[in-house]
Amino acid sequence: MAQIECKGVMKSYGALTIVPNFNLSVRDHEFIVFLGPSGCGKSTILRMIAGLEDISGGELSIGGTVVNDLEPGDRGVAMVFQNYALYPHMSIRDNIAFGLKRQKVPPDQIAKRVEAVATMLGLTPVLARKPTELSGGQQQRVAIARAMIKTPQVFLFDEPLSNLDAKLRAHMRVEIARLHKELKTTTVYVTHDQMEAMTLADRIVLLNGGEIEQVGTPEEIYERPSSLFVASFIGTPAMNLVPMEVISAEQTIVLQTGRSKLSIPKGVLEVHSGQKVVLGIRPADFRLGGLVDNDDVVFSGRVEMVEFHGDQVLALVDCDGAHFSALVPSRLRPIDGSDVHLHAASTAFHLFDAESGRNLLGG
Ligand code: ADP
Ligand code: MG
Repeated sequence: MAQIECKGVMKSYGALTIVPNFNLSVRDHEFIVFLGPSGCGKSTILRMIAGLEDISGGELSIGGTVVNDLEPGDRGVAMVFQNYALYPHMSIRDNIAFGLKRQKVPPDQIAKRVEAVATMLGLTPVLARKPTELSGGQQQRVAIARAMIKTPQVFLFDEPLSNLDAKLRAHMRVEIARLHKELKTTTVYVTHDQMEAMTLADRIVLLNGGEIEQVGTPEEIYERPSSLFVASFIGTPAMNLVPMEVISAEQTIVLQTGRSKLSIPKGVLEVHSGQKVVLGIRPADFRLGGLVDNDDVVFSGRVEMVEFHGDQVLALVDCDGAHFSALVPSRLRPIDGSDVHLHAASTAFHLFDAESGRNLLGG
C-alpha cells in the first residue's frame, strides 16, 4: 500500500513562504498530476515528498509511515527529472543497474531485473551502448528504467518530457500511461503542459502560487472549473471570458457589456443586479447558425477574423462589443465581415464572480 498523505505541509525560505498549507491524499495506485504555471511550487512539493527538500511544517506520510525525517533513500520513492543526467561513460546496462549495485544487490539478480525493465521499455537492443548513442526518447526511457528497477512504492516525475520534441512527447506520454496501467505504482507527475495532465491523470491538482486551486478528474476540471484561474488555464483554444455586469436577475439573467446585452437562464445561479461577473464559454461549445434548439442562447455578431486550424477554424466574432471566439468545422467556415449567429446550449455557460474569481455555479 502506498498512499501519500500531505497534512498542512508547508515550505518557506526564511521569511518567504512558497507553500503555505498543502493538503492532499493520494490513493494507492493513483496517477496524480500537479499542474500549474512555472513557479507555482510544483517541484518544491514534489521534492518535499521525495525528501530532497526539508519540510518547514506539517506532516507527510507514505504508505502509512510518517517520512518527515526519513532520508530520500528510505522513503521507497524513485524520481525521474527533466534533466535525466545519465552517466556518459557507462553503458546503458550499467546506468540502469547503478542504483542496485550501490545497494549491493547480488549480480545475478541485478542482471535479471535489468533484463526485465529493459524488455518492458524496449531498451534490450541498446543495453551495450553509451548514452550519447541513443535518441532523446531512448535516453528518457533509460531514466525511467533506472527509477523502475528500484521497484519503488511511489514514482515521482518532474517534467520528464519537457526536453523532447512534440512528437516524441506525445509518444512517451502513451508509454508512461501504458507503464502505469501495467505496474499500477502510485505516481505523482509534475507538468505545466495541460495536454499531458489531461491524458495521464486520474486526478489533476491545479496549483497557483503554492496553493491548490482545484483537485479533480480531467473531466471535472474541464467541465466545472472552480475559478477564473482554472477556466483560463485549461482548454485550447482558451475559454472565452467576457467581463459583464448583471443588470437584472429575475427568471433570466440579463448581462451587459458596452452596448451588448445578453440573457441566460437563471437556473440555480445566485447573482444580484449590479454584480460584476465574467461570462465564460468554450469556443468549441458554439455552433454557427443552423437548427435552433429551444434552450439555445443566441448571440449575433460580425466575423472579425478567421484562423484556419485544419479540420476546424476559429472564428472571432464581435457581438456588439463583446468578443467571442468559436471553433467550428472548416466546411462551415464563415466569411470575414459576414453577419453570423452563434448558438450555444444554456448549460454550456460558466459564470464567475469578477472579484473573487469563484465559479458561481460551484465546481
Ligand atoms: P515550479 O516547479 O512550479 O515551476 P518551484 O517549485 O520550482 O516551481 O518554485 C516555486 C517558487 O519557489 C518559485 O517562486 C521559486 O522562485 C521559489 N524557490 C525555489 N527554490 C527556492 C530557494 N532555494 N530559495 C528561495 N526561493 C525558492
Ligand atoms: Mg519545476
